[in-house]
Amino acid sequence: MNYISTRGSAPILGFGEAMMTGLARDGGLYVPQTMPVMEHWEIAALAGLPYEEVAFRVMRPFLGGFFTDDEFRGLIDKAYGGFHHAARAPMVQLGSNHFLLELFHGPTLAFKDFAMSLIGQMMQAALAKTGERITIVGATSGDTGSAAIEAFRGLANVDVFILFPHGRVSDVQRRQMTTPSEANVHALAIEGDFDDAQARVKDMFNDFAFRDGVRLAGVNSINWARVLAQVVYYFYAGVALGAPHRQVSFTVPTGNFGDIYAGSIAQWLGLTIDRLVIATNQNDILDRALRTGEYRTNGVKPSVSPSMDIQVSSNFERALFDAYLHDGPAIAELMGEMKSGGFRIRQDVLERLRAQFESGSCSEEETLATIARLHKTTGELLCPHSAVGVKVAEEHLGDEPMITLATAHPAKFPDAVERATGIRPGLPLHMADLFQREERMTRVPNDLAALQELIRERIAR
Ligand SMILES: *Cc1c(COP(=O)(O)O)cnc(C)c1O
Repeated sequence: MNYISTRGSAPILGFGEAMMTGLARDGGLYVPQTMPVMEHWEIAALAGLPYEEVAFRVMRPFLGGFFTDDEFRGLIDKAYGGFHHAARAPMVQLGSNHFLLELFHGPTLAFKDFAMSLIGQMMQAALAKTGERITIVGATSGDTGSAAIEAFRGLANVDVFILFPHGRVSDVQRRQMTTPSEANVHALAIEGDFDDAQARVKDMFNDFAFRDGVRLAGVNSINWARVLAQVVYYFYAGVALGAPHRQVSFTVPTGNFGDIYAGSIAQWLGLTIDRLVIATNQNDILDRALRTGEYRTNGVKPSVSPSMDIQVSSNFERALFDAYLHDGPAIAELMGEMKSGGFRIRQDVLERLRAQFESGSCSEEETLATIARLHKTTGELLCPHSAVGVKVAEEHLGDEPMITLATAHPAKFPDAVERATGIRPGLPLHMADLFQREERMTRVPNDLAALQELIRERIAR
């Protein structure tokens, strides 16, 4: 199994290299050169299997033998052993044809644990083979960073630096990043918003001397291995509701497009997905792009669902690459136009995107009203991101079951939930003392050279 860049001019890599590399050297994102297919019977056979076994069967074809089967099973078991629900991804029913897939039972209470716990295990295993050391640098709107720090804290061959927008993440998110005491964990609060943080990380990857000098590795949602890990729960939930014998649909609260892109991979693999619905908050660039064909940023507006306060949706590049029928140079040109604020999607491409994705957006008031209403009618306390999903899903219900992805635990965003319902959701037992733990973080300017110097200094110690 080989991986190619969406911009067509980076080296072709195997699974292990693609995982360690993150961003391709031409600025693009790695995607499989050819897509494996799962037969109808193979998908049907997933019904009733434990999450870990579904994970093994769905991901194995993408590894190209990088791990042996035994090794890979062991890594999956370790990755999900720390989850706090035996089902890993349980489902609850919200309405006659509407289901909620709870992806927040991992160690940091957001769906990002599914990918990050596994990539932590896989990278550690890969480094142990060669004795190499790497520097992980990531940008976060809150949840990626906490999941990454949790997955990599204390690992011998890894330093992990996480850039988060100062003052724009929730207290729980910040504390999950600033309270681990391991020396290899570096939480950096940057002056700016998430897009600034993400842009500086991209700059570091595009500075090859720096990149090679510190052996930079990326675990942001552009990392192919993360996308792959997220494909699993589409299968797990889909077969639980009758796929592949019938169609199912998914609605996905979307920011950087990683989670929903995993859904489109599941669809290509053969899962009978009728519709994939993109749900955005007031930062609705993706919804506008699908409606108008104009992909144009107009500034990030902070919202009650901060993990989706994103205007430059990195993984959308992968969907564009598919819809441009793997025309790397065309993607490179579009991404060049991004520097001046956006681009127009070609009409035939737009139609292909519309055939695959539907979309909707949810205002701040609607988000809070949805949390309040769902609590009254179902007893379920939704985090604001999941509420965005539920509201948009309700506008897209059809004959087939609709599965909305609940991306975080309500206790990760207690202020919004309390505002909506009057109830302040408590942290689960395993992190009940989070607010007593000591915090440790470094304030940094939105400046590439200063960041690079800090990283070089820290890893030299
Ligand atoms: C990251 C995140 C999202 C958005 O996911 P993407 O893969 O970036 O689209 C939604 N909700 C929560 C809680 C998140 O942490």
